[in-house]
Amino acid sequence: MSIETSLLPEMIAAMEQIINDNAEQVTALDQEIGDGDHVYNLQRGFEALRKKQDELVGLDWPSAWQKIGMIVMSTIGGASGSLYGSFLVTMAKTAKGKDVDAAVFAEAFMAGVESIKKRGRADVGEKTMLDVLVPVAQTLQKGVAQQQDLKTVLAEINAVAEQGVEATRDMIATKGRASFLGERSKGHIDAGAQTAQLMIKAVSEVIEKHL
Ligand code: ADP
Ligand code: MG
Repeated sequence: MSIETSLLPEMIAAMEQIINDNAEQVTALDQEIGDGDHVYNLQRGFEALRKKQDELVGLDWPSAWQKIGMIVMSTIGGASGSLYGSFLVTMAKTAKGKDVDAAVFAEAFMAGVESIKKRGRADVGEKTMLDVLVPVAQTLQKGVAQQQDLKTVLAEINAVAEQGVEATRDMIATKGRASFLGERSKGHIDAGAQTAQLMIKAVSEVIEKHL
């Protein structure tokens, strides 16, 4: 079965649901070392996406990513809005004109993550969403290169995403608002890493359901 954009409403709903279900916990994290608005920022984005989801269904993946990227950029405030916007628009650019199979998806995802690094001037180890997204992108590429079945790849992706979240706990933030706290950022999980993991989990579950 190939994964079509007709699944987007279900994916958007699943991501919105998992963020809502964990809103209190993530906001508590964000209040420790951020300004506490991260969940609200994402919720605004999901609300906008939900309203426009009918326009997304039927597009090819690169066109859908482009459109989602533009919506995300204009509705999610804060650092995460421009970073996820850049991620999606870069995925679109990388995959444009190609048939999106697993290899193209993995390539586009990696390019998207690279664009976050560039825009945020950050890399792994700085206590951000990149501590989840980079290992996920690498695991995806490895899975495709080794021709693992999708179920195995999804399980591995979700495992490294959880490890990435946990790894942020003992890091000292050097990027974003948490960096203002320096040493005091230690001992707290990064909210953006946590939401990245949750959204990946939600999309993975939708894909698994349709395998
Ligand atoms: P803001 O920090 O502007 O209030 P959000 O609260 O929406 O934005 O998002 C904060 C999250 O964004 C952080 O938890 C972190 O994961 C991520 N982040 C912040 N700055 C960067 C950066 N320079 N590079 C990568 N990710 C970042
Ligand atoms: Mg914030």
